[in-house]
Amino acid sequence: MGSYSLQTIELLKNEIPVEQDSLLLSGDVKTGLVLVDIVNGFCTVGSGNLAPQAPDKQISGMVDESVKLAKMFCEKKWPIYALLDSHHPDIPEPPYPPHCIAGTDESKLVPDLQFLENEPNATLRCKGCIDGFLGSFEKDGSNVFVDWVKTNEIKAILVVGICTDICVLDFVCSALSARNRGLLTPLKDVIVYSHGCATFDFPIHVSRNIKGALAHPQELMHHIGLYMAKGRGAKVVSEVSFGTE
Ligand SMILES: [Zn+2]
Repeated sequence: MGSYSLQTIELLKNEIPVEQDSLLLSGDVKTGLVLVDIVNGFCTVGSGNLAPQAPDKQISGMVDESVKLAKMFCEKKWPIYALLDSHHPDIPEPPYPPHCIAGTDESKLVPDLQFLENEPNATLRCKGCIDGFLGSFEKDGSNVFVDWVKTNEIKAILVVGICTDICVLDFVCSALSARNRGLLTPLKDVIVYSHGCATFDFPIHVSRNIKGALAHPQELMHHIGLYMAKGRGAKVVSEVSFGTE
Protein backbone atom coordinates (compact mmCIF):
# COMPACT_ATOMS: atom_id res chain seq x y z
CA MET A 1 0.00 0.00 0.00
CA GLY A 2 1.45 3.39 -0.98
CA SER A 3 1.73 6.22 1.52
CA TYR A 4 -0.87 8.09 -0.50
CA SER A 5 -3.57 5.53 0.19
CA LEU A 6 -2.54 5.30 3.85
CA GLN A 7 -3.00 9.05 4.13
CA THR A 8 -6.33 8.81 2.36
CA ILE A 9 -7.51 6.15 4.79
CA GLU A 10 -6.44 8.28 7.74
CA LEU A 11 -8.38 11.21 6.29
CA LEU A 12 -11.48 9.07 5.81
CA LYS A 13 -11.19 7.60 9.30
CA ASN A 14 -11.08 11.11 10.69
CA GLU A 15 -14.37 11.87 8.96
CA ILE A 16 -16.09 8.95 10.74
CA PRO A 17 -14.15 8.40 13.95
CA VAL A 18 -14.99 5.45 16.17
CA GLU A 19 -14.26 6.09 19.82
CA GLN A 20 -13.31 2.89 21.62
CA ASP A 21 -13.50 2.09 25.31
CA SER A 22 -11.85 -0.65 27.30
CA LEU A 23 -13.79 -3.55 28.79
CA LEU A 24 -13.17 -5.10 32.19
CA LEU A 25 -14.71 -8.54 32.57
CA SER A 26 -15.16 -9.09 36.29
CA GLY A 27 -17.81 -11.77 36.25
CA ASP A 28 -20.40 -9.39 37.74
CA VAL A 29 -22.15 -9.07 34.39
CA LYS A 30 -22.78 -12.46 32.83
CA THR A 31 -20.96 -12.20 29.52
CA GLY A 32 -20.91 -14.62 26.59
CA LEU A 33 -18.25 -14.75 23.89
CA VAL A 34 -19.42 -14.96 20.28
CA LEU A 35 -16.89 -16.15 17.71
CA VAL A 36 -17.92 -15.37 14.16
CA ASP A 37 -16.54 -17.60 11.41
CA ILE A 38 -13.01 -18.12 12.73
CA VAL A 39 -12.69 -21.02 10.33
CA ASN A 40 -9.89 -22.08 8.00
CA GLY A 41 -11.78 -20.96 4.89
CA PHE A 42 -11.52 -17.32 6.03
CA CYS A 43 -8.41 -17.34 8.19
CA THR A 44 -5.85 -19.95 7.16
CA VAL A 45 -3.47 -19.05 4.34
CA GLY A 46 -4.30 -20.85 1.10
CA SER A 47 -7.38 -22.58 2.51
CA GLY A 48 -9.80 -21.88 -0.34
CA ASN A 49 -11.34 -19.07 -2.37
CA LEU A 50 -11.96 -16.68 0.52
CA ALA A 51 -8.89 -17.45 2.63
CA PRO A 52 -5.91 -15.08 2.71
CA GLN A 53 -3.45 -15.89 -0.09
CA ALA A 54 -0.50 -14.72 2.01
CA PRO A 55 0.04 -14.17 5.74
CA ASP A 56 -2.19 -11.30 6.83
CA LYS A 57 -1.41 -9.28 9.96
CA GLN A 58 -4.95 -8.15 10.68
CA ILE A 59 -6.36 -11.66 10.30
CA SER A 60 -3.65 -13.43 12.31
CA GLY A 61 -3.94 -10.75 15.02
CA MET A 62 -7.69 -11.37 15.16
CA VAL A 63 -7.14 -15.13 15.52
CA ASP A 64 -4.58 -14.62 18.32
CA GLU A 65 -6.89 -12.33 20.29
CA SER A 66 -9.86 -14.66 19.83
CA VAL A 67 -7.86 -17.68 20.98
CA LYS A 68 -6.76 -15.81 24.12
CA LEU A 69 -10.34 -14.84 24.91
CA ALA A 70 -11.69 -18.33 24.20
CA LYS A 71 -9.11 -19.85 26.57
CA MET A 72 -9.98 -17.37 29.33
CA PHE A 73 -13.71 -17.97 28.90
CA CYS A 74 -13.14 -21.72 29.09
CA GLU A 75 -11.01 -21.35 32.20
CA LYS A 76 -13.82 -19.41 33.84
CA LYS A 77 -16.47 -21.74 32.39
CA TRP A 78 -18.24 -18.79 30.77
CA PRO A 79 -20.42 -19.47 27.74
CA ILE A 80 -19.05 -19.38 24.20
CA TYR A 81 -21.08 -19.40 20.98
CA ALA A 82 -19.02 -20.21 17.87
CA LEU A 83 -20.52 -19.68 14.42
CA LEU A 84 -19.00 -21.71 11.59
CA ASP A 85 -19.67 -20.79 7.98
CA SER A 86 -20.70 -24.03 6.33
CA HIS A 87 -22.36 -24.43 2.94
CA HIS A 88 -24.07 -27.25 1.10
CA PRO A 89 -22.07 -27.77 -2.13
CA ASP A 90 -25.20 -27.24 -4.29
CA ILE A 91 -26.32 -24.02 -2.63
CA PRO A 92 -24.22 -21.04 -3.73
CA GLU A 93 -23.90 -17.84 -1.73
CA PRO A 94 -23.73 -14.96 -4.17
CA PRO A 95 -21.84 -12.69 -4.59
CA TYR A 96 -19.17 -14.98 -3.14
CA PRO A 97 -17.40 -17.84 -4.91
CA PRO A 98 -17.78 -21.34 -3.39
CA HIS A 99 -16.29 -21.42 0.12
CA CYS A 100 -16.50 -23.28 3.44
CA ILE A 101 -18.25 -26.33 2.01
CA ALA A 102 -19.72 -28.44 4.81
CA GLY A 103 -17.51 -31.30 5.88
CA THR A 104 -14.30 -29.80 4.50
CA ASP A 105 -11.43 -28.30 6.48
CA GLU A 106 -12.52 -24.85 5.32
CA SER A 107 -15.61 -24.95 7.51
CA LYS A 108 -13.67 -26.13 10.58
CA LEU A 109 -12.44 -23.84 13.36
CA VAL A 110 -8.81 -22.75 12.93
CA PRO A 111 -6.37 -25.21 14.56
CA ASP A 112 -5.86 -23.06 17.69
CA LEU A 113 -9.62 -23.03 18.36
CA GLN A 114 -10.36 -26.67 17.65
CA PHE A 115 -10.18 -27.45 21.38
CA LEU A 116 -13.62 -25.81 21.60
CA GLU A 117 -15.12 -28.91 19.98
CA ASN A 118 -14.62 -30.66 23.34
CA GLU A 119 -15.44 -27.81 25.73
CA PRO A 120 -18.77 -28.15 27.55
CA ASN A 121 -19.20 -24.36 27.79
CA ALA A 122 -18.92 -23.92 24.00
CA THR A 123 -21.86 -24.15 21.60
CA LEU A 124 -20.82 -24.63 17.96
CA ARG A 125 -23.28 -23.67 15.28
CA CYS A 126 -22.86 -24.25 11.54
CA LYS A 127 -24.53 -21.59 9.42
CA GLY A 128 -25.22 -21.50 5.70
CA CYS A 129 -25.71 -17.76 5.43
CA ILE A 130 -23.93 -14.49 6.13
CA ASP A 131 -26.00 -13.46 9.16
CA GLY A 132 -25.31 -15.78 12.11
CA PHE A 133 -28.54 -14.76 13.83
CA LEU A 134 -30.60 -15.98 10.86
CA GLY A 135 -28.26 -18.94 10.58
CA SER A 136 -29.17 -19.96 14.13
CA PHE A 137 -32.81 -20.67 13.28
CA GLU A 138 -33.93 -24.28 13.33
CA LYS A 139 -36.63 -25.64 11.01
CA ASP A 140 -39.16 -25.55 13.88
CA GLY A 141 -38.67 -21.78 14.26
CA SER A 142 -36.58 -21.94 17.42
CA ASN A 143 -33.27 -20.12 17.46
CA VAL A 144 -30.14 -21.69 18.95
CA PHE A 145 -28.54 -18.30 19.65
CA VAL A 146 -31.66 -16.91 21.36
CA ASP A 147 -31.90 -20.08 23.47
CA TRP A 148 -28.17 -19.82 24.33
CA VAL A 149 -28.66 -16.24 25.61
CA LYS A 150 -31.74 -17.17 27.63
CA THR A 151 -30.48 -20.45 29.07
CA ASN A 152 -27.20 -18.89 30.21
CA GLU A 153 -28.91 -15.64 31.31
CA ILE A 154 -26.38 -13.67 29.32
CA LYS A 155 -26.45 -9.90 29.88
CA ALA A 156 -23.64 -8.94 27.48
CA ILE A 157 -22.06 -10.53 24.45
CA LEU A 158 -18.51 -9.89 23.34
CA VAL A 159 -18.24 -10.38 19.59
CA VAL A 160 -15.08 -11.19 17.65
CA GLY A 161 -14.33 -12.72 14.27
CA ILE A 162 -14.36 -12.15 10.55
CA CYS A 163 -15.36 -10.14 8.55
CA THR A 164 -15.82 -6.96 10.58
CA ASP A 165 -17.98 -5.38 7.87
CA ILE A 166 -19.84 -8.53 6.71
CA CYS A 167 -20.63 -11.49 8.97
CA VAL A 168 -19.69 -9.73 12.23
CA LEU A 169 -21.66 -6.62 11.30
CA ASP A 170 -24.75 -8.49 10.10
CA PHE A 171 -24.83 -10.65 13.22
CA VAL A 172 -24.39 -7.60 15.48
CA CYS A 173 -27.15 -5.67 13.68
CA SER A 174 -29.59 -8.58 13.93
CA ALA A 175 -28.75 -9.18 17.60
CA LEU A 176 -29.32 -5.49 18.34
CA SER A 177 -32.66 -5.48 16.51
CA ALA A 178 -33.74 -8.66 18.29
CA ARG A 179 -32.69 -7.18 21.64
CA ASN A 180 -34.59 -3.96 20.95
CA ARG A 181 -37.61 -6.00 19.95
CA GLY A 182 -37.49 -7.81 23.31
CA LEU A 183 -36.50 -11.18 21.88
CA LEU A 184 -33.18 -11.55 23.70
CA THR A 185 -34.00 -10.89 27.36
CA PRO A 186 -31.89 -10.49 29.53
CA LEU A 187 -29.28 -9.32 26.98
CA LYS A 188 -28.32 -5.67 27.40
CA ASP A 189 -25.01 -5.03 25.69
CA VAL A 190 -23.55 -6.06 22.37
CA ILE A 191 -19.82 -5.36 22.49
CA VAL A 192 -17.44 -5.58 19.54
CA TYR A 193 -13.72 -6.01 20.24
CA SER A 194 -11.88 -4.22 17.46
CA HIS A 195 -8.59 -6.15 17.65
CA GLY A 196 -10.59 -9.36 17.79
CA CYS A 197 -12.08 -8.59 14.38
CA ALA A 198 -10.63 -8.54 10.88
CA THR A 199 -11.67 -8.34 7.29
CA PHE A 200 -10.12 -9.34 3.98
CA ASP A 201 -7.97 -7.18 1.73
CA PHE A 202 -8.81 -6.56 -1.91
CA PRO A 203 -7.13 -3.27 -2.74
CA ILE A 204 -8.27 -0.88 -5.45
CA HIS A 205 -5.12 -1.39 -7.55
CA VAL A 206 -6.02 -5.08 -7.87
CA SER A 207 -9.78 -4.72 -8.27
CA ARG A 208 -9.55 -2.09 -10.99
CA ASN A 209 -8.00 -4.67 -13.32
CA ILE A 210 -10.85 -7.15 -12.81
CA LYS A 211 -14.12 -6.36 -14.54
CA GLY A 212 -17.01 -5.96 -12.13
CA ALA A 213 -14.88 -6.48 -9.02
CA LEU A 214 -15.62 -4.45 -5.91
CA ALA A 215 -12.62 -2.92 -4.16
CA HIS A 216 -12.33 -3.79 -0.47
CA PRO A 217 -9.38 -2.06 1.20
CA GLN A 218 -8.88 -3.94 4.45
CA GLU A 219 -8.00 -1.18 6.89
CA LEU A 220 -10.78 1.12 5.74
CA MET A 221 -13.49 -1.54 5.52
CA HIS A 222 -12.57 -2.85 9.00
CA HIS A 223 -13.01 0.69 10.30
CA ILE A 224 -16.30 1.16 8.48
CA GLY A 225 -17.57 -2.14 9.91
CA LEU A 226 -16.82 -0.92 13.44
CA TYR A 227 -18.40 2.43 12.65
CA MET A 228 -21.60 0.82 11.36
CA ALA A 229 -21.80 -1.50 14.37
CA LYS A 230 -21.39 1.42 16.75
CA GLY A 231 -23.95 3.44 14.80
CA ARG A 232 -26.50 0.67 15.35
CA GLY A 233 -25.89 0.67 19.08
CA ALA A 234 -23.03 -1.75 19.68
CA LYS A 235 -20.22 -0.80 22.05
CA VAL A 236 -16.78 -0.93 20.48
CA VAL A 237 -13.78 -1.66 22.68
CA SER A 238 -10.07 -1.75 21.87
CA GLU A 239 -9.03 -3.50 25.09
CA VAL A 240 -10.41 -6.42 27.08
CA SER A 241 -9.10 -7.34 30.51
CA PHE A 242 -10.14 -9.74 33.25
CA GLY A 243 -10.26 -8.90 36.92
CA THR A 244 -12.35 -7.68 39.80
CA GLU A 245 -14.23 -4.39 39.77
ZN1 LIG B 1 -20.48 -18.23 3.56
